[in-house]
Amino acid sequence: MTTSTPNSSVVFWFRRDLRLADHPALLAAVDEARATGRPVVPLFVADDGLLASGGPNRQDYLVRTLGGLELALDGRLTLRRGRPEDVVPQVAAEAGAEVVVATGDCAPYGRRRDARVAAALSAAGRSLRLVGSPYAVSPGRVTTGSGDPYRVFTPFRRAWEAHGWPRPTGRPTGATWATVASDIAWGDLVRDPSAVAPVRTATGESAAAGLLDAFLGGPVATYAADRDRPDLAGTSRLSPHLRFGTIHPRQVLARVPAGPSGDVFRSELAWREFYADVLWHRPDSAWEPLAPAGRFLRWDSGPEADARFAAWAQGRTGYPLVDAGMRQLRAEGWMHNRVRMLTASFLVKDLHLDWRRGAAHFMDQLIDGDLASNNHGWQWVAGTGTDAAPFHRVFSPDRQAERFDPDGAYVARYVPEHGSSGYPAPIVDHATERVEALARWDEARAAAAGAAGPS
Ligand SMILES: Cc1cc2nc3c(=O)[nH]c(=O)nc-3n(C[C@H](O)[C@H](O)[C@H](O)COP(=O)(O)OP(=O)(O)OC[C@H]3O[C@@H](n4cnc5c(N)ncnc54)[C@H](O)[C@@H]3O)c2cc1C
Repeated sequence: MTTSTPNSSVVFWFRRDLRLADHPALLAAVDEARATGRPVVPLFVADDGLLASGGPNRQDYLVRTLGGLELALDGRLTLRRGRPEDVVPQVAAEAGAEVVVATGDCAPYGRRRDARVAAALSAAGRSLRLVGSPYAVSPGRVTTGSGDPYRVFTPFRRAWEAHGWPRPTGRPTGATWATVASDIAWGDLVRDPSAVAPVRTATGESAAAGLLDAFLGGPVATYAADRDRPDLAGTSRLSPHLRFGTIHPRQVLARVPAGPSGDVFRSELAWREFYADVLWHRPDSAWEPLAPAGRFLRWDSGPEADARFAAWAQGRTGYPLVDAGMRQLRAEGWMHNRVRMLTASFLVKDLHLDWRRGAAHFMDQLIDGDLASNNHGWQWVAGTGTDAAPFHRVFSPDRQAERFDPDGAYVARYVPEHGSSGYPAPIVDHATERVEALARWDEARAAAAGAAGPS
């Protein structure tokens, strides 16, 4: 049922939870509204600060997702632009709402924003109620016996599984949706439509459910073996949906089959939760290396470094698997995990460029761009993070191609000119740069030890 501008309502503020099913915060808002005979005013705030950091692919994906959500809400989704600490209290006042309900946000910006919004609402005699999180287990909940955060993945995963999570719930029933006036249109949210990656995937809750069904109907059985093969459709492709909350990890975890492949898949979902937990405890870990030696690593800069960065970003390094990954990113706003690891390793250890530069580029381009998974994924590759791969593990682009793209099908898809005279020669020699990278790491470790002083 729908109604126009109410005198009294509950405002529900959508953020990274753009779905109706299995939504504890939305259920809480609907329950509260129904108990007092009031409607719910669903709201989305276009926060310029967040949108600017999104990049065109994520902006486009968001707009298409919001379009579907609006339809599911019988056209009743209020869209406002501005600073949330101004907009949310304003909408609450217009809608006559004492309470604004939302899902908790666990990332540093979201936590600071929510504190500002809660303070602004409170000053007006209203309140912000946060329910749940975008994770199966909210960050900060899984701790060691002594109450400390886990620094290493495997014991975290065990404790996370032991903690467990509730079964998913259905859609809210009996809700009355209402709106107040929107002040912008969907299209305004994409700053530069010409910069959006040409290949667009389907958005929304039903697209997410379809992907999960398709994955569970086939690829999950061979996931443990095929997940590293970018030439195969061996993974779920759920990451953008988990990013925008068109599916919740609970909904995925509830259907993961028993057996070795299911265990590996559950473990990958646990990496997402682990990285969110690390960021929760150490907000500085988004952009600062966690390993002391990481602070002393020497990075290249200047015009030649810039030219190498551009060749990497455009997929013109002369290393086919690296180039295929970077071109997949440009074409689709998504890249296979194996190739994310390789392209990141190449930037850091073959081109000697700061991992933060690569992380920022990925955040700009990826539809699933997520500060915790992306920046900790980069730190893992760079050997500077918590539970990181050792720095001396340097990915060889040729060896990775032999192992994970054995027939060259992935490279052929994205780098059709490979093997012809139009394809560039390698911009660096991998064997030489590997030695250079290891020398720089030794140098950084010695500097970190010196800075720590005698033990
Ligand atoms: C340098 C680098 C940057 C990355 N940036 C992001 C990012 O911005 N956003 C993002 O969601 N993932 C990121 N990842 C993790 C991983 O590459 C993607 O989650 C995965 O490729 C998404 O494809 P999928 O949904 O088919 O994954 P599947 O293999 O089907 O896995 C299911 C889900 O598990 C989670 N997951 C899988 N692998 C990882 C991982 N290594 N770390 C954290 N979560 C994982 C994701 O939510 C994924 O959707 C990054 C990895 C690296 C190495």
